[in-house]
Amino acid sequence: RRITTGTYMEEVYHQLEFVFGLKEFRPNQLEAISATLEGKDVFVLMPTGGGKSLCYQLPAVCTSGKTCGVTIVVSPLTALMEDQVSALTAKGVDAFFWSADSLQHEVSAKLFSGDKKPSLLYVTPEKLRASSSCRNLLERLYRQQQLARFAIDEAHCISTWGQDFRSAYQGLGQLRQDYPNVPIIALTATANERTRDDIVDQLRLRNPASFNQSFNRPNLKYYIEKKTKVLDSIVDFIQRKHPNSSGVIYCLSRRSCQNLAEQLQSKGLRAEYFHAGLDKDTKNRLLEEWKKDKFRIIVATIAFGMGIDKPDVRFVIHHDLPKSLSGYYQETGRAGRDGKPADCVLYYSYKDFLTICWMIENDTEREEPLTPEGIDRQKNAAREVVKYCNNISDCRRVQVLRHFGQNFDKRECKGGCDNCLDPRPLVEEDVTIVANNAIDIAEASSSITASQITQYLRGTNANKLRERPGLEDMIGFGTCKGFSKELVELAMDHLMADDLLNLRREKGPSGFFNEYVEVGRTALSFRKNKGRLLVKW
Ligand code: ADP
Repeated sequence: RRITTGTYMEEVYHQLEFVFGLKEFRPNQLEAISATLEGKDVFVLMPTGGGKSLCYQLPAVCTSGKTCGVTIVVSPLTALMEDQVSALTAKGVDAFFWSADSLQHEVSAKLFSGDKKPSLLYVTPEKLRASSSCRNLLERLYRQQQLARFAIDEAHCISTWGQDFRSAYQGLGQLRQDYPNVPIIALTATANERTRDDIVDQLRLRNPASFNQSFNRPNLKYYIEKKTKVLDSIVDFIQRKHPNSSGVIYCLSRRSCQNLAEQLQSKGLRAEYFHAGLDKDTKNRLLEEWKKDKFRIIVATIAFGMGIDKPDVRFVIHHDLPKSLSGYYQETGRAGRDGKPADCVLYYSYKDFLTICWMIENDTEREEPLTPEGIDRQKNAAREVVKYCNNISDCRRVQVLRHFGQNFDKRECKGGCDNCLDPRPLVEEDVTIVANNAIDIAEASSSITASQITQYLRGTNANKLRERPGLEDMIGFGTCKGFSKELVELAMDHLMADDLLNLRREKGPSGFFNEYVEVGRTALSFRKNKGRLLVKW
């Protein structure tokens, strides 16, 4: 084993330019690279697009660090690994991806015959755990002191606190035990404090050099709009504020991307739709044209984004609710990479939350089906976005950055979000009576909608409501007479975001879907503990 200290800086700068064709490091890259070359454990928290891959790819091609040999990269995303391996190969780096055990002999030949070992071996956590040939091979490298380091990408997948938990990641805790002196570098873009501690604990990182980059994007402005007349609103927004700028509009489904792009075209805007269902050539062509400003607006599902690096995106619109705050942050993060001002607008409707729940339950595209806990985690992640939208008092940056475990001083927002720009004098109302009665009504009637509950509580539409099974006695009718319709509606929104009430989608007699209210999972403890519901508005 070669141990040379202090000399690797020169090599690091040389390889940055020579292999990667880059001139300078982005924040924290050099520090993380130095630390891993020193043989330390490293934890890197960096926003998506921040340049995490370089933090393990560059050390992998350096020969003057404290440990030498092969860098083992563990990542959950097969497609991403294939992309990275072909990009590295194109740069002349010897990297490969162990996709199947049938490649065993080929892999082994690469690693153990010839005098120069490859720099990087990419592998999924599942393979690392389940394949004995993979483990044998690592063992052999280890005995030859040729395991340079483990790079654990998307390290948050190890934590059951996050919505991306993957059970195979938990097996990675074993690496420290099996290869005690091989350094580990863990990287993620999605970590609140709890998740961060969890990653360090579970991977058994020893006193890691930790790099946590601020997630604040000072040049982005954040707005939430009610989702009514959304097409007119988007057209007006673009024509007024961004007539000649590039932007991305995110929709939940492929069909709505297509519809919206066509509607925008009919209003004279240069828009195209983009989603995973298009063939590769079309996707490449659209990307090229968009980058060259042949058209301006791309209407896309979240399949659009990985690796997109157009600097002058002036707006990102969420036509539908994002699936999580992390997703929202990443998607909005594609705006304003050139550092100039950009706008992020989210159109909020509670109905989109139901659509997301439906998509989570009926997701057929996953490699591994979701466990019931996985379903819960994803729904809770979406629920967090609902709360974010409903919170019309706290600075948007404070709310989003809190999700990443950062305390942000709202004075730094400087009017950069709707809530700071237009601080409304808010009144706090006690709407506990709405909560208790709405839960009772949902319990009594199995087919009642949210707007019918609102009418019932406010004492309107008595004759119609009396026909509902379970409500014949009209108990509790009109108990919230004194409240305005808007306040009761807001209270209902809160009840659903807190899972005191839940909506169930059902095909009605006319063939259309109805959304019926049912009792949510936190209702029982709310009642038992005599909970209170306060809303600010
Ligand atoms: P992440 O994994 O953090 O989402 P990537 O590693 O994919 O990000 O990097 C995102 C983009 O930034 C890539 O196009 C990459 O080439 C580029 N990049 C990374 N580091 C640098 C740098 N030091 N200078 C310029 N571009 C960089």
